[in-house]
Amino acid sequence: MDLADATEDRAFRATLRAFLERALAETRSLPSDPAAAVEQSRAWQRKLYDAGYVGLAWPRAYGGQEASPVRQVIFGEECARLGAPPLINTIGLNILGPALIAFGSEEQKRRFLPRILRADDLWCQGFSEPGAGSDLASLRTAAVVDGDDFVVNGQKVWTSLGPIADWCFLLVRTDRAGRAQQGISYLLMDMRSPGVRVEPLRQITRKSHFSEVFLDDVRVPRANLVGELHDGWRVAKATLSFERSGLAGVVELEKRLEELKSLASQRRRLDDAGLRQRLARLFVEKEALKYTGYRVLTAQSRGVDPGPAAAIGKLAASELRRSIMDAALDIQGPYAAIGRGNPQALDRGRWQGLFLDARAYTIGGGTSEVMRNVIAERALGLPKSIAGG
Ligand SMILES: Cc1cc2nc3c(=O)[nH]c(=O)nc-3n(C[C@H](O)[C@H](O)[C@H](O)COP(=O)(O)OP(=O)(O)OC[C@H]3O[C@@H](n4cnc5c(N)ncnc54)[C@H](O)[C@@H]3O)c2cc1C
Repeated sequence: MDLADATEDRAFRATLRAFLERALAETRSLPSDPAAAVEQSRAWQRKLYDAGYVGLAWPRAYGGQEASPVRQVIFGEECARLGAPPLINTIGLNILGPALIAFGSEEQKRRFLPRILRADDLWCQGFSEPGAGSDLASLRTAAVVDGDDFVVNGQKVWTSLGPIADWCFLLVRTDRAGRAQQGISYLLMDMRSPGVRVEPLRQITRKSHFSEVFLDDVRVPRANLVGELHDGWRVAKATLSFERSGLAGVVELEKRLEELKSLASQRRRLDDAGLRQRLARLFVEKEALKYTGYRVLTAQSRGVDPGPAAAIGKLAASELRRSIMDAALDIQGPYAAIGRGNPQALDRGRWQGLFLDARAYTIGGGTSEVMRNVIAERALGLPKSIAGG
């Protein structure tokens, strides 16, 4: 693949950058009231959608632009470079949307996809349960068919955006015979259905990014089944692969590395040989990650499954993020113990927040250990891990 922008992509990048600069100049900081903040974030996504920048690679029939995946990457890069606010419906856009395009019925695609793009419906992902995370197939939330509906009972956990989501795509057990992976179905559930209870979970960063979701006799229309009954595992595997791929994070990490260098300079550590080697290693890892991302992109541009490259990228990105934040706190020395809210904190304590957040990236979407298992089995052809079953 040619790594420089093609002429038309260069023009796209320039127009996008000019648009973003103008739009960002008009953007206010998020209000402290959570409901108002959600509305402002929806409005930001809508503004980008109306300008033709959301759903770049999606089919036109469902509100997309049918552009190449390269454009999607350019969009992510420019947003990260200019520090644009994230798109609020990230789970709908990056995880459910591509899965619905591949596996949804025509009616589901027409009903749900345009509303994802405009942030009319915010989505959350109901996969994990108290006893089913890495071993997702052991999930126990169950659904039985009753007339035109499924009736769902059980509990989900770590549901990101659960407290603000309008809809949830969830995995339920519909048959107990056979292997654990068989008998799972994939449903689209309105979060306002009677019997859905959301309990926000407070994290170490003091944010309540995710939640527990309790499901008590929740009725979900049969029309909201994605794929075939009992065959949801196939859709779930594809969904996880969409969750694990993505290049935009590299630009953000690139920015963090620059900031790390500034921090080292501010602390007069730039002539420390050990630290210089550490920074150089982080830079090399970032470059390697970038080219792995290009490999995934090349496969996607050709309509080919990127295979284990998505797991490699996910592992490398989250571990690199963790190493950058570890280095930041090491550079701060004794100041590392002082966080946000303390007037003595360096950089107003933002590295402490980033450090705590970085752990989450090595867990969400599949842990680093599980990614290593996937790479061992699918990329290296090693025997299946015993722990993974
Ligand atoms: C920020 C964040 C957001 C999330 N958002 C969502 C969401 O929106 N929706 C959702 O459904 N879930 C979400 N999750 C949950 C996430 O998918 C799970 O936390 C993850 O899959 C791990 O599952 P677990 O927490 O049950 O840990 P476990 O599976 O119990 O793992 C515990 C430890 O054992 C290790 N381990 C497990 N199996 C193996 C193995 N075979 N080999 C080696 N080591 C192993 C793991 O690596 C881990 O260190 C989110 C998690 C985080 C951190």
